[in-house]
Amino acid sequence: MTRPDPTPSPTGASAAPDAGGPAPLRPSILDPLFAPARGLPGVGPKMAPMIERLLGTPERPARIVDLLFHLPQGGVVRKLLGSISEAPPGEPVTLGVTVTGYRAPQPGPGKRPYRVLVEDATGDVTLVFFGMPAARVEKMLPLGAHRYITGRIDLYDGHRQMVHPSRVVDEAGLAALPAVEPVYGATEGLTSRAISKLAHAALDRLPSLPEWQDPAWLSKNGLPAFADALKAEHRPEGAPAPPAADGTVAAGPARRRLAYDELLASQLALALTRARSRRAPGRANAGDGHLSDRIAAALPFSLTGAQGRALAEIRADLASDRRMLRLLQGDVGSGKTAVALLAMASAVEAGRQAALMAPTEILARQHLARLTAMAGPLRLRLLTGRDRAAERRATLLDLAEGRIDILVGTHALFQDGVAFHDLGLAVVDEQHRFGVHQRLALGAKGQAVDILVMTATPIPRTLALTCFGDMDVSVLDEKPAGRQPIVTRLVSTDRLDEVVAALGRAVAAGDRVYWICPLVAESEYVDLAAAEDRFADLAQEFGAAVGLIHGRMPGPDKDAAMERFSRGETRILVATTVVEVGVDVPEATIMVIEHAERFGLAQLHQLRGRVGRGAGASTCLLLYRGPLGQVARARLETMRETEDGFRIAEEDLRLRGEGEVLGTRQSGLAAFRLANLESDGDLLQAARDDAQLVVARDPGLKSERGRALRVLLYLFERDAAIRLLGAG
Ligand code: ADP
Ligand code: MG
Repeated sequence: MTRPDPTPSPTGASAAPDAGGPAPLRPSILDPLFAPARGLPGVGPKMAPMIERLLGTPERPARIVDLLFHLPQGGVVRKLLGSISEAPPGEPVTLGVTVTGYRAPQPGPGKRPYRVLVEDATGDVTLVFFGMPAARVEKMLPLGAHRYITGRIDLYDGHRQMVHPSRVVDEAGLAALPAVEPVYGATEGLTSRAISKLAHAALDRLPSLPEWQDPAWLSKNGLPAFADALKAEHRPEGAPAPPAADGTVAAGPARRRLAYDELLASQLALALTRARSRRAPGRANAGDGHLSDRIAAALPFSLTGAQGRALAEIRADLASDRRMLRLLQGDVGSGKTAVALLAMASAVEAGRQAALMAPTEILARQHLARLTAMAGPLRLRLLTGRDRAAERRATLLDLAEGRIDILVGTHALFQDGVAFHDLGLAVVDEQHRFGVHQRLALGAKGQAVDILVMTATPIPRTLALTCFGDMDVSVLDEKPAGRQPIVTRLVSTDRLDEVVAALGRAVAAGDRVYWICPLVAESEYVDLAAAEDRFADLAQEFGAAVGLIHGRMPGPDKDAAMERFSRGETRILVATTVVEVGVDVPEATIMVIEHAERFGLAQLHQLRGRVGRGAGASTCLLLYRGPLGQVARARLETMRETEDGFRIAEEDLRLRGEGEVLGTRQSGLAAFRLANLESDGDLLQAARDDAQLVVARDPGLKSERGRALRVLLYLFERDAAIRLLGAG
């Protein structure tokens, strides 16, 4: 996405004149880092897809930089072995164990793991292997043999397990190991060892880059150069810091340096955006109301006061010749979609086009369907990454020639090659899934595009500043009339049978049920296995009325599962948290969340918001496994007491602290790759200050350091901000 599309756009409208001509090129010095990782020596046809699975995304293949930024989780010192009972969950450890048994996969839908039981004098652990032939596992871990295994122990339903040990060796293998060995988050079939080799090969491709940090600051804080930091992480020599008792080595200056680089890149991108939006000229993008009034009059409801106020604020922004950058915050179900539609209709009246970007394919389709139902004469179209070539060509042509008023889609909207006739308003739904980068890319699709960002995550103000700079904010603090409160109950998992029996009665009476499966450890595989197990259990009870949807299903399968539930062909939908954002099935009235104590409050609130959207009374059952700690109980009690998203957000902040609200995957806010806001939170403020200073002194990034900082922005792919620098 950093290279401009070589094909000229049919109208030339995508050239973003306000961004100073075509997008600048990534400096060629970084080319080796953005080359595909599968081009590294030693990567064969078998390994390539595994690398893609670990580091690639649907939008782009895995690159060398992704490999370099896939930092080891810790350096394991092989001499320091742990014992099973004392191994801290979640941290890498090496254990000397005896193999005591095998558990072949149970038959059932989806991929089931092969399990191996091992023990030492202090306890036992189940090793879990996905997608590995039994013969290979048994050869590596023969029954009765003594082996040294390295990996992370997780507690799953009270039992210790280790998913995909990163290393299994015998006595001789142990003796041959280096004193310190990095341990990487591994994936199906790709061991930590293999990743380490790849990382070494990637390090050899590391070009010499200019220093973008202030040298005085670096030496004051004892931080190494960027390249040295990466080398120290991937090729630890000796134990850099004294290892802890469990054999792990704490993150040192190398990790801090890399974290600071990433934070500075993000804060600099924000600071550039802010500086730009302050002086950005805009265009008047609001019409005379003839379309939006007509659409509003045809809605099956009248707008709430809050919707009316938000819309007036947005229209005033659209009408002014200043650029709009506005955040529309509104709880789940507060009616953001209708506001967005009427805002987009205003832009269309002014002769512009509008775009609405959703975080997932499912949501994009759902938005399209719901907008179409309300949109009267407006011409809507969908653009996703999954469109067939001919379909895509037709859409792009219609878009460029102005035959589409509102384009709805996913990330695909801001890819190169998507050229609008005249984009006036871009609406981004569920902002926290998008970075500034994407927002800017969309904004660059037209002349002085007005941007409306919608989020259902109530974001406390201090955090909003860090994430979103200084956007203007409209709040929908009023629910549409006629909503019934959702009754929330806390139920211990000991009473699972009663819950299932009650569901049976509800389903027989015509209700529809979401059943959300727990978030376990950090392993998607484990999450998935849990959901599949629950699905199998419920299917045994209720047969074909049960459906399953999870994050690893191919997109079309996800859509199909969602549609079957939406049409009522399935009545109980077992899901991992993919249903979290935005999905709307008004007939669903029961939400069961298993192991609710493992979810963040914000996420529980989002999940619960999936029900209570229709006229029927709704129930949310929070299943927990006791005994609950004090904080866990307080959190679940909060859920029972209130449906007010802002109160829940504040409570969340109070109970968990700022770092966690921002940094964990529960919050849904874009996580950093190298920085961890929990441990590097202090660096965030420093990065923010530094970025502001840089932008104040060298707004065009033209000084020597400024030029080095451009390299940093490209390196962390915050380079969309560079487009804002104008021709310089
Ligand atoms: P959000 O995106 O904020 O979660 P939606 O826009 O999906 O909320 O709206 C939730 C539901 O409420 C939709 O079915 C929508 O048609 C309905 N709705 C929106 N505004 C109103 C209103 N003013 N009165 C009644 N129902 C409304
Ligand atoms: Mg929504």
